[in-house]
Amino acid sequence: MIAENIAIVKEKIAEACKKSGRDASSVTLISVSKTKPVPMLEEAYAAGSRDFGENKVQEMCDKMEVLPADIRWHMIGHLQTNKVKYISGKTYLIHSVDTYHLAQVIEKEAVKNGCISDVLIEINAAGEDSKFGTSDMAANTELIKQVSALEHVRVKGLMTIAPMTDDPESNRKYFAALREFSLKPEFKDCFDGTPLLSMGMTGDYTVAVEEGADFVRVGTGIFGERDYGVHV
Ligand SMILES: *Cc1c(COP(=O)(O)O)cnc(C)c1O
Repeated sequence: MIAENIAIVKEKIAEACKKSGRDASSVTLISVSKTKPVPMLEEAYAAGSRDFGENKVQEMCDKMEVLPADIRWHMIGHLQTNKVKYISGKTYLIHSVDTYHLAQVIEKEAVKNGCISDVLIEINAAGEDSKFGTSDMAANTELIKQVSALEHVRVKGLMTIAPMTDDPESNRKYFAALREFSLKPEFKDCFDGTPLLSMGMTGDYTVAVEEGADFVRVGTGIFGERDYGVHV
């Protein structure tokens, strides 16, 4: 079932790429495996997935220990500063940098580990209270500039979590706005190359791809509904 789901999602990504004149290989599908047991991740791995997304540090570390070393781990959830030390040097990309303070802690741990940490700045596209990051774009501009000045933190791009909706088209404007914002000339020296965009989840990833997503984060569409009963 998981292999089939991955094939379906990849097919839809390819269609969205074709529609928008993009190369399908430019989009990375992240299998969001939070709350899911290791055997399900192994199934996704066997189906070719090498990018996994988790939102809790402890759970990510536990899974890292038992799964193949060539997996690229993406921290997509809110990251507490006191937990940074457990994942520093072990994640491929931290998607959820939403304060300068957090970035400073990531910098400090990267120095300790002698590594460079790749991160995305999280933007609260629709200004929802339930989401992290801010929708104040002047503040986001300042944050991007500040974080990019840290020597051991590399800002690869931006991430956003669009509103939950039954109508993915209603999120198109947020994805388009994020892309436009990322390309502001004043960020010319801030990003490490062309800014990468992490946007789109199960409900809206095809629209996100059409609007330029480099990473889509798909959980339910690959692993099925999550049961939070025992986990939270
Ligand atoms: C859980 C989660 C996802 C995946 O959500 P689905 O709707 O199940 O695809 C994507 N991004 C973030 C940040 C998440 O926390």
